[in-house]
Amino acid sequence: MIKDNVNDFTVVPPELFWRQLFFQLLPIVGLIAFFWFISYRNSQMGNKLFSFGKSRAQVSGGGKVTFADVAGVDEAKEELQEVIEFLKDPKKFERLGGKIPKGVLLVGPPGTGKTLLAKAVAGEAGVPFFSLSGSDFVEMFVGVGASRVRDLFEQGRKAAKVSGKGGIIFIDEIDAVGRQRFAGIGGGNDEREQTLNALLVEMDGFNTVSGLILIAATNRPDTLDPALLRPGRFDRQVVVGLPDINGREGILKVHVKNIKLGNEVNLRRVAQLTVYFSGADLANVCNEAALLAARRNKETVGMEEMLAAVERVTMGPEKKSHVTSKKEKEMTAYHEAGHALLSLLVEGVDTFTKVSIIPRGMAGGYTLTPPKEDKHYMSKKELKGIMVVLLGGMVGEEIHMNDTTTGVSNDLQKVGELARNMVCQYGMSEKLDKLSFGRQNHQMFLGRDLFEGKDYSEETARKIDEEIHNLVRASYDTARDLLARNRDKLDLLARRLIEKETIDIEETRVLLGLPEPQVSQNPEIPPQTA
Ligand code: ADP
Ligand code: ZN
Repeated sequence: MIKDNVNDFTVVPPELFWRQLFFQLLPIVGLIAFFWFISYRNSQMGNKLFSFGKSRAQVSGGGKVTFADVAGVDEAKEELQEVIEFLKDPKKFERLGGKIPKGVLLVGPPGTGKTLLAKAVAGEAGVPFFSLSGSDFVEMFVGVGASRVRDLFEQGRKAAKVSGKGGIIFIDEIDAVGRQRFAGIGGGNDEREQTLNALLVEMDGFNTVSGLILIAATNRPDTLDPALLRPGRFDRQVVVGLPDINGREGILKVHVKNIKLGNEVNLRRVAQLTVYFSGADLANVCNEAALLAARRNKETVGMEEMLAAVERVTMGPEKKSHVTSKKEKEMTAYHEAGHALLSLLVEGVDTFTKVSIIPRGMAGGYTLTPPKEDKHYMSKKELKGIMVVLLGGMVGEEIHMNDTTTGVSNDLQKVGELARNMVCQYGMSEKLDKLSFGRQNHQMFLGRDLFEGKDYSEETARKIDEEIHNLVRASYDTARDLLARNRDKLDLLARRLIEKETIDIEETRVLLGLPEPQVSQNPEIPPQTA
């Protein structure tokens, strides 16, 4: 029987039969897979498809993160101490007549530990913690954000009642919701406005007796709607800035707690080399160092790995496998040599520490010029110097072969931004009225420029462009002049780079016969106060 059947099929060769069957079944299998996927996603996201209005707040029980996990932000901790005390014992607090904050706004750049601080407050007080990002409120559908706000507060109130101790509601990136209302004129920003209104209503509606406290974080308090900052709302602002050298050392200590460190590791030194690093960057450094040590099969994490990690976090990983042509290598060498030499020659800028033609991240090569110390301001002279050094790459290429490459684009972009800021923000223009341009008018909403009003005339705009052009041109001329006059040094440095690929500053000084710098760096920089 079976044999006969098979024989009947002899017209269709077996592989063709299977092929036909396969194509006939394909749509059905596809459909099944599709439905399976949908239902899987649904269960994964807790039926999110049907719960637009739910707040999706992340809840975490207090107690995990404490102030011991946060370093380098002592002032902020001190200010938040009061909140903790209140959460621990609201009755006592009120008896003494303390005025309890309803909303605390943490202000600072990304990665400085604002979320961590808010969690630590909840942890220290032993209360539940609800967090949500401002961008989660803002959805495509009108009304969703507002209902999410209400839901978030509802959850918070319930949890506070259950715990009997109150709780923390944390809203990250509150600027996504709380942007000034006029910015939306003509933009049809009903949704954002409704969300903001819901937030204001909820804030006014809850009283601190319930023990709920709202903590929000932003990088740009100046863009927030004034209504949010009124008394009884976010009337308390706590600044969480980038850590100074002591802070950085403290943060490093927190993050090496679970890492086996070699005896020679000097965290103070690492802190010194990481000016302008945020807490998140430093956490990243420790992690990278540990990974690197593991890859090298080492027992402990050494100073070598820590330093490599600092570079990696600054620049992105080295691309060792990348093969470049001889010509490309030469161009990169002259480009980087141009940057490096100018960082030595130009007065008042940070000297490079290491220059390399090994591709890294997006760059074909790199010249590291870490700031020597924590700076709070930069002078006009310094900024001009930085522009000269940035243009050194392009000029190096030109001097070498009368040509330039696409490798200059990033440098040029930075120079342009710097020049524009100098003219428009810092009043550093020579020709224009210095006092006219203290403002930038950029309103971003959902990544789009909604309102890009200029508060100056076309005439002034033209003058600004001219001034920017003049600044860049002058820097270019300086770079060209300096490198042309030091052509021998440029050649020496570039040739050594082609040969060795990476050189540090000490070797360069010997190579070029330059004297050691007079002021040696003091390893114990005293604590900085802002
Ligand atoms: P923000 O909310 O300000 O953007 P986060 O709190 O999310 O920053 O910080 C991200 C991570 O960086 C934290 O989880 C922590 O590991 C590390 N970090 C940031 N700041 C600090 C700090 N001051 N002390 C210790 N770790 C920090
Ligand atoms: Zn460059």
